[in-house]
Amino acid sequence: MRSTSHLHVAVVAYPFTSHVPKLLAVARALATAAPSATFSFLSTADSLARLPAIAAVVPGNNIRFVEMPSSDDDGQGTPALRRMELFMEAAEAGGLRRALEAAGDAAGGVRVSCVVGDAFMSMAADAGVPWVAVWTGGPSTLLAHLVGDALREDIADHRARGDDPLLSSFPGLGSYRVGDLPFGGAGDSSEMGRFMNLLLGRVGQRLPRAATAVAVNAFPGLLAPDVSTALADALPNCLPIGPYHLLPGSTAAAGAPADDDDPHGCLAWLANRPANSVAYVSFGTVAAPPPDELRELATGLEASGAPFLWSLREDLWPLLPPGFLDRSKANDSGGLVVPWTPQAAVLRHPAVGAFVTHSGWGSVVEGMSGGVPMVCRPFFGDQHMNARDVTRLWCFGTAFGLDGGKPLTSGGVAEAVASLIAGEEEEARMMRTRARQLQARMVKAFEPDGGSITNFHKLVDIVCAHRV
Ligand code: UDP
Repeated sequence: MRSTSHLHVAVVAYPFTSHVPKLLAVARALATAAPSATFSFLSTADSLARLPAIAAVVPGNNIRFVEMPSSDDDGQGTPALRRMELFMEAAEAGGLRRALEAAGDAAGGVRVSCVVGDAFMSMAADAGVPWVAVWTGGPSTLLAHLVGDALREDIADHRARGDDPLLSSFPGLGSYRVGDLPFGGAGDSSEMGRFMNLLLGRVGQRLPRAATAVAVNAFPGLLAPDVSTALADALPNCLPIGPYHLLPGSTAAAGAPADDDDPHGCLAWLANRPANSVAYVSFGTVAAPPPDELRELATGLEASGAPFLWSLREDLWPLLPPGFLDRSKANDSGGLVVPWTPQAAVLRHPAVGAFVTHSGWGSVVEGMSGGVPMVCRPFFGDQHMNARDVTRLWCFGTAFGLDGGKPLTSGGVAEAVASLIAGEEEEARMMRTRARQLQARMVKAFEPDGGSITNFHKLVDIVCAHRV
């Protein structure tokens, strides 16, 4: 029998890159906080298949997984960009609405009462039920997308003149430069750049007018006050509840990952290393350094003298310097190269003392939660704005490639890694101290009356306020 008061929440992922696990962390937290509600987690079959088994486990057993149609169910035949385009075109053209109806049918006819959706899935604005958006990237970048049209006009002039001023006339963006922005650069004319600009342009227009609330992957007090104020002014119920990977019900909150989340034995490898001795290296799920940088990085890591754990896509391994992988396999170089790590757990491991990162937002907050200082090498998207915050706002890391300067070289890598891990100079000590202070603030935010938990309860109230 159909109930009119039952709560059925659809959590909708953007089924590409690193978005799905982040949305699932939010879904698990909501399902843990509202055990009598039904949660449908919508994503494509291939993205769901990549989730570790433990991801589905919540105490109330109240998350069901619902497959959204994908353009290429074997995930192999169609290039990634084309799959994204086809998926988004279909979702915009009524696909999301139909998937929500199907989720209602699968839940015994209980219609979806609220969509908690990745902000990228901004067609949820027209789904006919309240839309609580989840932003997974750097919060300052979200601010840039909200004023994207005005910024684009402004930056076109600066690019033409070749200058790179601070964005002083935009509230909350005054400490960033034109060159930090996620759009307006050379990459924008690429096919991926055009696709992302269109997608994020829609997000910037729809969020302020159509979202009921917006969750942000930060804890209250982390962002610069002008950024927080500008976001709160622009968005309804803008709630920093993060980092998402620490929310109640998350694997991090539950302790160490299951063994099958660590198929390459990274945690066991770390267990044999002294505290704060290891450099962890990862560029997330998309970014790939150009071949010459990859070689510089490898050489620099070996020269740093620090043991290193490097998460590197296997298709890039042939680009490493001759003998590098053999040395790492034989453990002569003190390094371990693997295609994937349980990163959040790796960064919380006491052995890790420095993080060489592309400064994707997930990586930045995971590094903070481990109290690990960073070496940033931003590539695209939100990464430059994030790296600027790491180096200039929170001051717990250093960066290559910001302000068009200091390219990544082997000598630079060796020096930065060695300094962050064990450098005696004042600056290195301060960075390690600040990283630990950020970690402590994050821990406080997740105490029962902490900022993230308080905001999370507000979010639960908003999500649960809507019944069919
Ligand atoms: N990640 C992981 N293991 C790896 C590499 C990445 O678990 O070996 C995860 C990482 O923990 C993070 C996500 O992938 O949550 C990457 O997200 P981020 O926002 O840093 O970068 P993106 O991949 O979106 O560029």
